[in-house]
Amino acid sequence: MSTVLNGIAASSGVAIAKAFVHEEPDYSIELTKVESSEDEIARLEKALAVSKQELSVIKDKTEKELGPDKAEIFAAHLLVLSDPELVDAVKDKIKNESCNAEFALDEIANMFISMFENMDNEYMRERAADIRDVTKRVLGHLLGLEIKPLSTIAEPTIIIAEDLTPSDTAQLNVNYVKGFATNIGGRTSHSAIMSRSLEIPAVVGTKEVTSKVKNGMTIIVDGIDGDVIIEPSEQELSVYEEKRNQFLQQKQEWAKLVSEATVTSDGASVELAANIGTPKDLEGVISNGAEGVGLYRTEFLYMGRNELPSEEEQYEAYKAVLSGMEGKPVVIRTLDIGGDKELPYLDLPKEMNPFLGFRAIRLCLEMTDMFRVQLRALLRASAYGNLKVMFPMIASLEELREAKKLMKEEEDKLISEGVEVSDSIEIGIMVEIPSTAVAAELFAKEVDFFSIGTNDLIQYTMAADRMNERVSYLYQPYHPAILRLVKNVIDAAHKEGKWVGMCGEMAGDEVAIPILLGLGLDEFSMSATSVLPARSQISHLSKDELSSFIEKVLQLGTAQEVEELVTQTYLK
Ligand code: PEP
Ligand code: MG
Repeated sequence: MSTVLNGIAASSGVAIAKAFVHEEPDYSIELTKVESSEDEIARLEKALAVSKQELSVIKDKTEKELGPDKAEIFAAHLLVLSDPELVDAVKDKIKNESCNAEFALDEIANMFISMFENMDNEYMRERAADIRDVTKRVLGHLLGLEIKPLSTIAEPTIIIAEDLTPSDTAQLNVNYVKGFATNIGGRTSHSAIMSRSLEIPAVVGTKEVTSKVKNGMTIIVDGIDGDVIIEPSEQELSVYEEKRNQFLQQKQEWAKLVSEATVTSDGASVELAANIGTPKDLEGVISNGAEGVGLYRTEFLYMGRNELPSEEEQYEAYKAVLSGMEGKPVVIRTLDIGGDKELPYLDLPKEMNPFLGFRAIRLCLEMTDMFRVQLRALLRASAYGNLKVMFPMIASLEELREAKKLMKEEEDKLISEGVEVSDSIEIGIMVEIPSTAVAAELFAKEVDFFSIGTNDLIQYTMAADRMNERVSYLYQPYHPAILRLVKNVIDAAHKEGKWVGMCGEMAGDEVAIPILLGLGLDEFSMSATSVLPARSQISHLSKDELSSFIEKVLQLGTAQEVEELVTQTYLK
């Protein structure tokens, strides 16, 4: 008998494969004195040999299946294991201090890691990451742990985890990782957003998937309806294979719209843009036919590392996105750290309510040296495309004015240094805090555009944590209060002749799309994979008809009534 768990559908599609349960093992290491250094060195050598053996197998397999460039990383890892500078230093330490091999390896590796990490050179910093990965592998053997780093998964797999951090998801090799299911998270948690940009089916917030699944079990992840089927029967397997095929066929139909404009049935145009986290996501933006980037979340550039990215590094990333989009609009959001996105190296004190705390623009306006570096990188990159800069979490006009002032100062400095800066950069804000949505009319006079961040706007308006599945019933995009706030923002902007986008997940939601069109939203920015289904849906909707339909919607009292009316009218 199979077990079926229900969670939140985070990324569309159906995946069927064997499970891999991802647990971060306990690497805590204690110093012990050993009687025989020779025996300890022999233990180290054995762990090194087993690790090399494992890595060679993975490398050969990757080379065969994915090509030599994808296998390079494992060649680099093998080199680390044979590097006499590292290995001899560990052996010397064991000999000189009669300490255990784990302790010696950990100490020496950390020394090399911090040396490489502090180098002002991307290549060397990657070496630090290689040493960290390889050391974990060897330590795992020395400590007798059963581990398998996510990056080394080399067969079709479904990952089962409590949660996946953005850096876990960034490591996944989508050629092998067919899908994932987690205990916690909601549709707008970052693991969910990443799964959509990687285009792998995912179900999050199942509460108990890790306790039900063992390594090697067959799993179905149904990212369309949010189900996880554990050890499916033959009959279930064939039902879901059929569902997967239908989804793939539908995808082919959508693909025909890739070079089309987004136009309603009565000829009104809107812009469909995509949200990205790194320049690598551009591939998906282009292959899914997005007309721009509506949100580049720059915080990923700051995460998964040990120090701030340099101006040069940021400039290269922004330039890559701007030139890759070839003049199409690109909205780059300044650093939005905090909430569920931590930067351990900033050493900020723990807060009781991180989502309401010292984050995003609040932090940037205090840590102005860091903020200025980002602004300079953005301004320098502006010469390569159609840049729009957006400030996150703006709650007051003072914050907006201060951020604009800093940007102007950096612009003037660059110009006086003779650096080329575009003279048509638009400046906008995320509307994701209710105070700003309510007072949109005041903000509209001082920005070029708004982008409504419903992921946060909903959680703050409803006082329901977007990460907490216990209160997810209150996280209601179609709640009358949310619809009124969105309407207020759009009307306020239009009164001032400004455009309004939406970059929260609501923008790609099929129930929300007719409502947002009816309210007059100008730009919809979503996961790249939602662009083509949205274009197809919009092509069947009449904007004229929707502007009267919206009157009826705005009279309804509950989110459920709204959903029912839209579904009956437009989705059946
Ligand atoms: C939002 O809050 O809607 C948004 C797009 O920002 P993030 O999901 O990065 O908080
Ligand atoms: Mg937000």
